[in-house]
Amino acid sequence: MALSTFTRIQKNISVCQFCEESIFIKWKCINCDLLLCQLCHSRIHSKSKSSTDHKVIERKDCESEVALETTRQVDLTRMACIQHSDETCVLYCKNCDRPVCSECLIGDHQNHKYSKLDIVYQKKLKVIKEIKCKIESEIPFCKKQGANLQHILSEENKQFTENKEKIIEFRDKVIRHADKLLSELDKLRKPREDLVKKELDSIRQRKNGLENRKTHLGQTLGSSSAADIFSTSRSIDKTIPDKTVKYVEVKQIQFIPGFFLNQPIDDLFGSVNEV
Ligand SMILES: [Zn+2]
Ligand SMILES: [Zn+2]
Ligand SMILES: [Zn+2]
Ligand SMILES: [Zn+2]
Repeated sequence: MALSTFTRIQKNISVCQFCEESIFIKWKCINCDLLLCQLCHSRIHSKSKSSTDHKVIERKDCESEVALETTRQVDLTRMACIQHSDETCVLYCKNCDRPVCSECLIGDHQNHKYSKLDIVYQKKLKVIKEIKCKIESEIPFCKKQGANLQHILSEENKQFTENKEKIIEFRDKVIRHADKLLSELDKLRKPREDLVKKELDSIRQRKNGLENRKTHLGQTLGSSSAADIFSTSRSIDKTIPDKTVKYVEVKQIQFIPGFFLNQPIDDLFGSVNEV
């Protein structure tokens, strides 16, 4: 288990993990991964031969960056080999670009080149920190650009809406005017149409009547019977309809176009341009 996992569990521990009595925990030994009271630290832990090299930090600093780095340094000395889980890594294989244990050294990596583990660790840590720094320095730029683009988006959207509303307003004005003219035209046309159609009906009826009478008289005249002449003569309608008709002539109703007729519509209505 990595050391950091212990640290999380230790947050809830309230007695010294050495004497298991004192509740005044002041220290944490990173190597032992134990929380200690002042007495256990000064009288036992720091005096014990096996723990003289141990890294001890104050408990309140447990989550600081320095504590984390110290913990990781200790963890480095205990890091398990990815191929031999019982072994800890001792060197860094340059050929394979990975930490290796003593078993690795006498196995697959025998003739490979090595570096000291902590030196490679420091180099890699430095690279990661540098990349993180670079990334962090890029973020304000992205934020600024993002805000700028967001501004452009909303400005252009505002513009677009305004332009659209104006064009629609103009279009509706033109449509309303055209509708008004069409309605005026209708009002003028309808009575004229009714009048002329009425006269047309009446003249057609008159013509049909005359045609019928002409046919009847034609049949009589085509007959070889003298009696037909007498019978037709008895019933004949001698009246000739009045030739007078209502005086109707073409009435001029004209649409007089405005400037639209000769001017380019862009000049009159407007146009959309990039400025
Ligand atoms: Zn204690
Ligand atoms: Zn210790
Ligand atoms: Zn190994
Ligand atoms: Zn190797």
